[in-house]
Amino acid sequence: MKFDFLSESDQAYFIHKASTLVEALPYIRQHSGDIIVIKYGGNAMGDKKLSSSFAKDIGLLKEIGVSPVIVHGGGPQIGERLKSKNIESKFIDGLRVTDIDTIKVVEEVLSKDINSEIVNSISSTGGKAVGISGNKNNLISATKLSVEIKDSDSNIEKIVDIGFVGQPTNLKSEIILDHIKKGEIPVIAPLGIDKNKFVYNINADTAAGFIAGQLKASKLLLLTDVPGILDSEKKLISSLSLSKAKSIFSKDFVSGGMKPKIKTCIEAMEKGVGKSTILDGRIPHSVILELFTEHGIGTQLIKD
Ligand code: ADP
Ligand code: MG
Repeated sequence: MKFDFLSESDQAYFIHKASTLVEALPYIRQHSGDIIVIKYGGNAMGDKKLSSSFAKDIGLLKEIGVSPVIVHGGGPQIGERLKSKNIESKFIDGLRVTDIDTIKVVEEVLSKDINSEIVNSISSTGGKAVGISGNKNNLISATKLSVEIKDSDSNIEKIVDIGFVGQPTNLKSEIILDHIKKGEIPVIAPLGIDKNKFVYNINADTAAGFIAGQLKASKLLLLTDVPGILDSEKKLISSLSLSKAKSIFSKDFVSGGMKPKIKTCIEAMEKGVGKSTILDGRIPHSVILELFTEHGIGTQLIKD
């Protein structure tokens, strides 16, 4: 049938808009009632327009019955603050070396500045966001992370001290679940605390994966500044089984901040998280595109 009262381009526009919504419907049904943990990073967070589109996506998820839990990073912002204080940033295997001066800056930037910025941005869309620092009320218990690296000359593994970088050991899940029950959106700063009350910097991917595993979340999304996991020819790997993910982990083309991401996805899924995706947070509405379109975006890790 022809719609003579519409131009061809208008018809195409309306059909495209409507089919996007129709395509989304089964996914809306599928995800309604789910807990989805989203790591909102550092590098994917700098731009005003992007942070507003992210906040709208989160507000929309809540409206359709999904319970989003946000865990945020802050790498670039922490780097800038350290620079202004003449403290050098150093990374080993994608993890920030965190001495006593650095942990003070990390705590301040994560739990004060960035956390409230995200909470305000989600609240402005009508969502009831609540800021929580992982080190407060013993939400995330942590121990000092032990890091082994291979000496490039001798190839011998050695343990290096990277300071106040924590490995999460326990989560008071009930605190997060209480917020969810009240219809709130937890926004969590990735800090942990040990039994001597030392505060630890936890890589935000690691924290998000741990939280997803403890909550048995349906899905873990790690937003970053690349399209997903890229192979040795820099091509996007759109789907990856857990066993394949384990085998590429030690390959040369996986380095820096991608290492903790892949490790996190593997560990979270082994603890019962259904699926995990590493995706490009620089794409506007990346969360909605990933969850509510047939092909999604990024690299999806699936069980074997
Ligand atoms: P984020 O703030 O999102 O955690 P990171 O810098 O910690 O960002 O991690 C993402 C970075 O990992 C990318 O910008 C890229 O430089 C690096 N990377 C290393 N290996 C890969 C790979 N195989 N595919 C994609 N990115 C990779
Ligand atoms: Mg990182």
